[in-house]
Amino acid sequence: MGSQPQSLRDVLSENDLLWLAGEQAFHSGREFHAAQKYVFNGANATALQGFVTDISSSYSVDIKLLANGDIQYSCECPAGRVELFCSHCVCCALAWLDETFDATDLWTDARAAISEIDEAHNLRSQLRACLQQVDRYELVEIILDWARRDPAHAHELMDSQRLSRFLQHSN
Ligand SMILES: [Zn+2]
Repeated sequence: MGSQPQSLRDVLSENDLLWLAGEQAFHSGREFHAAQKYVFNGANATALQGFVTDISSSYSVDIKLLANGDIQYSCECPAGRVELFCSHCVCCALAWLDETFDATDLWTDARAAISEIDEAHNLRSQLRACLQQVDRYELVEIILDWARRDPAHAHELMDSQRLSRFLQHSN
């Protein structure tokens, strides 16, 4: 009586997560959570569905409290596919613990948000691959051209720690 868990909160304390995931996955999951690498597709008192953006991909995570009190979980990543409680599960569980979900909470659609994150990530990778092939002189011209069209960011670049550190080094 009353011993059956009613909410994921009853079965996903930080200690539970550490036990389920093991130390390594727990710590990686905590880093993803701290860096806010997740979005919820939906959550309520007994279930959550979310996405975690790892270094190169987004993985879909599901965690559910079953009627018998067991936890059912899945993640699309390699560890998740062999049924480990992976770092992405830890991240989503920690994010869930931050909020107060009850049985009436609605599921929201966050797929658009995650595809925006992916797009920005892909653009950055493509741009890096291109810029790495450009010689130094050409690179300077590209940045100057960009600075002419975006003076505000050009000023920011002049003032940036990164640039001033480099200039001190070369003097
Ligand atoms: Zn995973």
